[in-house]
Amino acid sequence: MKLNDSARAELRASNIDPAEWPQLNGYGPGEEWRGDACGCTDDRCIGHHHDEGEPCGCLPALIDEHWKTVHAGEEGREVWALHERANASGSAEDRAAADQRLAEWITTYQPGALAFELTPRGITYRNQYNEHTWLVWDAERAAATVEQVA
Ligand SMILES: [Zn+2]
Ligand SMILES: [Zn+2]
Repeated sequence: MKLNDSARAELRASNIDPAEWPQLNGYGPGEEWRGDACGCTDDRCIGHHHDEGEPCGCLPALIDEHWKTVHAGEEGREVWALHERANASGSAEDRAAADQRLAEWITTYQPGALAFELTPRGITYRNQYNEHTWLVWDAERAAATVEQVA
């Protein structure tokens, strides 16, 4: 499957190289796009999520999600660096700065959080929708993520 012209134009307008779109959605290097021509990761978007010739509502949402993850990753690195600095210095001031930055990060990127915690693996949180604990910042990969840990 190849991305159609409007999907390519929309990705370029959002500063994304259409050639990188499969990789940004978890495909391996050189793997071919198995989503739909409109850019949706679902291969049956056209005719199901919207009619042929109608603009795709999924692609803008996927693009938003992509940039949100990128920004969460960049800011997450700052949060984690402050956390490590506070660990190293043991100073209450550094700890307060790290905690405040963490709270801001959670409010921005995981607004549904009921509780959150700094753990050796990264930042975890719990929400009101289920009983699980989710890793939302992976310290090892230095990247934002959503993985169930418990
Ligand atoms: Zn779709
Ligand atoms: Zn679509």
